[in-house]
Amino acid sequence: MTTNTTISSNFIENIINEDLKNNKNNKRVHTRFPPEPNGYLHIGHAKSICLNFGIARDYNGLCNLRFDDTNPSKEEVEYVESIQEDVKWLGFDWDDRMFYASDYFEQLYECAVQLIKSEKAYVCDLNPQEMREYRGTLTEPGKNSPYRDRSIAENLELFDGMRAGKFADGSRVLRAKIDMASPNVNLRDPILYRIMRAEHHRTGNTWCIYPMYDFAHPISDALEGITHSICTLEFEDHRPLYDWLISSLEMENCPQQIEFARLNVTNLVMSKRKLRMLVEEGLVDGWDDPRMPTISGLRRRGYTPEAIRDFCERIGVAKSNSTVDIAMLEHCIREDLNSKALRAMAVLRPLKVVITNYPEGQVEELETENNPEQPDTGNRSIPFSREIYIEQDDFMEFPIKKFFRLAPGQEVRLKNAYFIKCEEVIKDPKTGEVIELRCTYDPETKSGSGTATRKVKGTLHWVSAAQAVKAEVRLFDYLLKEEETEQEEKDFKDDINPNSMERLTACMVEPSLLHATADQRYQFIRNGYFCLDAKDSTAELPVFNRVVGLRDSWAKAQKS
Ligand code: ATP
Ligand code: MG
Repeated sequence: MTTNTTISSNFIENIINEDLKNNKNNKRVHTRFPPEPNGYLHIGHAKSICLNFGIARDYNGLCNLRFDDTNPSKEEVEYVESIQEDVKWLGFDWDDRMFYASDYFEQLYECAVQLIKSEKAYVCDLNPQEMREYRGTLTEPGKNSPYRDRSIAENLELFDGMRAGKFADGSRVLRAKIDMASPNVNLRDPILYRIMRAEHHRTGNTWCIYPMYDFAHPISDALEGITHSICTLEFEDHRPLYDWLISSLEMENCPQQIEFARLNVTNLVMSKRKLRMLVEEGLVDGWDDPRMPTISGLRRRGYTPEAIRDFCERIGVAKSNSTVDIAMLEHCIREDLNSKALRAMAVLRPLKVVITNYPEGQVEELETENNPEQPDTGNRSIPFSREIYIEQDDFMEFPIKKFFRLAPGQEVRLKNAYFIKCEEVIKDPKTGEVIELRCTYDPETKSGSGTATRKVKGTLHWVSAAQAVKAEVRLFDYLLKEEETEQEEKDFKDDINPNSMERLTACMVEPSLLHATADQRYQFIRNGYFCLDAKDSTAELPVFNRVVGLRDSWAKAQKS
């Protein structure tokens, strides 16, 4: 960590400070991060992780990792593993407190029995259609189920039968007995348990009834001694049910649910359902595709945990929903990489240049800094010789006004090397395409020697042809053309940018990059920040992902 990141003071901290002042929870602070293992984590989850683990850190408290695995049909072990990897990579640790809601299936069952015994739950045989009709609407109250007044004994027997597999899937449910006329539909006798013959990734076929999230969550929180149960705003209307369960069950520990606004970022898809669709339909190369807003995608792209934590801190925690400009996320990674990335020269679209007055066979080793921001990263040498590559678009045969790069008769500086002047343009006789430039160099202009007596306006990056390493470079655009629309599936697919990845397969990079590793980041001079793609790179062809370009539109907008 370069800076000690602390979540800036926010309304949740104010609540906790007040609780501490009043000796609530014996001054304990205990949070949890409760992902459902039905997909990979994304940048929105990172906000929740930084918030929950950050609070535990700042208050000398604890934060649990808990898998909310109450819905067996959608959950997989792969997701459980990826979630652990991602939380750790972000720099947080749950120590020995990794739990599963399924750890509590027996206790949850006991809690349900307890509710039945205190006449606060009943078995209901209405079918889903009837259930909807009885529920009422936002403007009309619901009406009581005809099964609402079953005796305790009958309910106990039926619920036991549900567990024992005596009834068909979906034929009965256990419901809380609260208030069918409540203005809050969540309190109109919500379902607590349903019958579902599905194999669970941890409990196998032990259970054929599964608790609902709204039932399992508060009880899991209470059992783990959670003090502050932080969740996103859509659960605000569920809070009365949360509190009703905690008090009806007379739980020893009474956690408090606090809601905050979920993170939305322009041009990013942030729903697991939609992300899963992209993966399943093969529109991306898996959950860790570098264009995905998943933690694993961002990692493969070359984002650092420091930059993501910095971003989560800057966006803060609020009570109302809003959308953050993706430029801010990019600003955070740029700032981090500017101090960390090793500088390197890489030519993405090579154009050969022959320096006609440079001795044939001669190779000079030129010294250059690894990172001017970090002098202790030292120097390296780069070879210079008679044949080099420059970028195709650093040359114009008929230069437009203010084009200070290479053109016939025009002189430029080669970064860390010499001035060269373009003397001749060689074209493919068939296509007319420029395929080579003949230049001369001035030996008196060697970089750092202080002997150059004139100035040139353009400085180009380059690589020496004989020693350069061939590489593939992937440039990315946003996966979504515009802001994510919360509309129909069809609309979402219409928003997908068909040109979100450009693969340049004939790049030439400086030889030091042969030893590039995926945990290092590079600034390819003038081209942006890059990271080795650990998945697709081979010994023959290293693959580099562009993390982000160099131009910082967000910082610029802040200044103006
Ligand atoms: P999705 O709607 O994408 O499927 P989810 O809320 O169902 O996400 P969970 O696995 O239940 O995903 O989320 C775990 C935790 O992360 C929850 O506490 C949830 O509130 C939080 N979270 C999920 N998405 C965001 C987001 N965009 N911003 C902030 N927190 C989020
Ligand atoms: Mg959820």
